[in-house]
Amino acid sequence: MKSSKKIIFNAECDSCGGTGLYQGFMEGPGRAVVCISCRGTGCNVVSLKPFEGRKRKRGMEKVRFGSGLILDCPGESAWFSYEEFLEKVPAAPKSKATKRKKKAKK
Ligand SMILES: [Zn+2]
Repeated sequence: MKSSKKIIFNAECDSCGGTGLYQGFMEGPGRAVVCISCRGTGCNVVSLKPFEGRKRKRGMEKVRFGSGLILDCPGESAWFSYEEFLEKVPAAPKSKATKRKKKAKK
């Protein structure tokens, strides 16, 4: 199977808004900390890999939905088979390479 290329993208740092500096309530007026997320560059390199369909996970027998809680110990009835998961939880469609169309003048 052919794998699509990763897209490497320079994104504005979410933590500092692209300034390279973080100013919390501890810093006081006129003072800032160099952003630990982007190390002061103002930019985070994000790599995106196009989705090519849901992959199979080997060795799976039982699956359940998580609650998001740290302590999450449901009973045996919460579990269902991996085959049921594949049937009942639809996979997202593959990503398509989209081309921007120029708007036709009316
Ligand atoms: Zn930053």
